[in-house]
Amino acid sequence: MNFKMSIAENLQHIKASIPEHVQLVAVSKTKPVEDLQLAYDAGQRHFGENKIQEMAEKFEALPQDIYWHMIGHVQRNKVKYMAQFVHLIHGVDSFKLLQEINKQAKKHNRVIKCLLQIHIAQETTKFGLSEVEALEIMMSNDLKSLENIKIVGVMGMATFTENKAQIEQEFTALKLTFNRLKQVDNSMTEISMGMSGDFPIAISCGSTIVRVGSSIFGHRNYNN
Ligand SMILES: *Cc1c(COP(=O)(O)O)cnc(C)c1O
Repeated sequence: MNFKMSIAENLQHIKASIPEHVQLVAVSKTKPVEDLQLAYDAGQRHFGENKIQEMAEKFEALPQDIYWHMIGHVQRNKVKYMAQFVHLIHGVDSFKLLQEINKQAKKHNRVIKCLLQIHIAQETTKFGLSEVEALEIMMSNDLKSLENIKIVGVMGMATFTENKAQIEQEFTALKLTFNRLKQVDNSMTEISMGMSGDFPIAISCGSTIVRVGSSIFGHRNYNN
């Protein structure tokens, strides 16, 4: 199948299947700017990348009204390369990282929106905080001094499995964690969960942001 011909169709198809209140982030990691441009021309404005340098290069090359989402694991020493333009950082998993994002955001006179990444999968390889650790961050006095970041919600990745019941259980756990964190900060609104293989389940469990890559752009080739 030639996905390049059908990026617009894939987008249209997915958009038709998700409710209006759910934000679709087109995950374009490893894909050339030409592919992103095709999605842009089809009306897509929110894009997700997992490497800061790659995102910064694409930011330079593409229209300025794109909302850039950092969905990967963030190294503190690279925050400075995206602080000027990033729209939402999904993978925040430590207070130290929040401090660095705050510091870099301040230089650009911005408030950068962040999500706390919560570990919900059985796999130990996936990054993220426990609910207790996330609560500690939300309740810490030091957080109040970080005026250039705003925690707007949570993000999580389910186990890579065919077992739908397990995926549903993990997404439900994330929704419950969100509810408890929201009791600390009632302004939180976002739950980023759901990828190509599981976004319909995620939406049924309360997702507000889905991160969809291969169903839009085709399979990724990590060798090029
Ligand atoms: C790659 C990636 C996605 C998209 O995955 P697909 O299965 O291609 O939809 C979503 N979220 C994160 C964190 C990713 O790294």
